[in-house]
Amino acid sequence: MFASISGPRRPSPPRAARHARRLAVLATAAAALAATGLAVAATPSSAAACNGYVGLTFDDGPTGSTNTLLSVLRANNVRATMFNVGQNVQGNPSAARAQVDAGMWVANHSWNHAHMTSMNQSQMQSDLSQTNSAIQSATGVRPQLFRPPYGETNSTLQSVAASLGLRQVIWDVDSQDWNGASVSQIVSNAGRLQDGQVILMHDGIQNTRDAIPQIMANLNSRGLCPGMISPSTGRAVAPDGTPPPTTAPPTGSPTTPPPGGGCTATATFPNVWGDRYNTSVTVQGASNWTVVVAVTAPQRVSTTWNGTASWDSTGYVMTMRSNGSGNTFGFTTMMNGNSSARPQIRSCTAG
Ligand SMILES: [Zn+2]
Repeated sequence: MFASISGPRRPSPPRAARHARRLAVLATAAAALAATGLAVAATPSSAAACNGYVGLTFDDGPTGSTNTLLSVLRANNVRATMFNVGQNVQGNPSAARAQVDAGMWVANHSWNHAHMTSMNQSQMQSDLSQTNSAIQSATGVRPQLFRPPYGETNSTLQSVAASLGLRQVIWDVDSQDWNGASVSQIVSNAGRLQDGQVILMHDGIQNTRDAIPQIMANLNSRGLCPGMISPSTGRAVAPDGTPPPTTAPPTGSPTTPPPGGGCTATATFPNVWGDRYNTSVTVQGASNWTVVVAVTAPQRVSTTWNGTASWDSTGYVMTMRSNGSGNTFGFTTMMNGNSSARPQIRSCTAG
């Protein structure tokens, strides 16, 4: 049944008829799933038109099963927002990085899930900034969203969050997964989501993971797609840019070799996605080299390869040294809302 949806698009029927048929098939599939409790491995979210967006959120990670959750999300073409606990990030930075690598947005859910309304202002400040630092150091991404544990907040907490550049996000729909909800109850709760709304779910719960294929089938049948949560409005919106990867033409310009420096570094941008892009830097004139590259805030480098990277105190200036992997190194930069800026090569020195 699903092959006819996710397979190659048939050229013949008019668009409206095709769309109606697709919706009908999806609705039937969703009903069948709800009746039988069967899960599907993948749903054709890319095949459905998006009439609106919803924010799927997973709290309290990373956990020991974050990678399993990420596999389910990827298999279902879901991008979600992960409200991470700072202490968990510090204890499992690779899982936090895996969230970003899987296309998820990472956000702040406090340092250790305390009842923050009983804290004073300076305790709130240190809790949230410590969490931001842990997330940023693990993932290269600075959080822009904050969800208070238990949804408990007050005006002091909101103003502290705002002073750290964090938008408070609670939820519109509670999946009740934390409260022992069954898979079908979680699916049913998610069925209440409307355009722009956000649902609370959790990392580390099997029923939640098992519900995702059916949640996605239901959302798709209603023309709703998983979106990002806007840091300015707290509402679910389309992800930055357009989903399909595009290839940008090489636009790099060579640096002028510094006096006595003896190498030239040229940057190209072979891959550009909606929220990130890759930079490839080729060095000529030296086999042992040091290249200094600066990115523009709020962009952040999330991954590097074929070199040894170190950072200045701002986190925006990267020094890359050759490590025997050849003369071309690369890195991925998260746009974080700035899709136009590209890194600048500041210097290339030999040795
Ligand atoms: Zn929580």
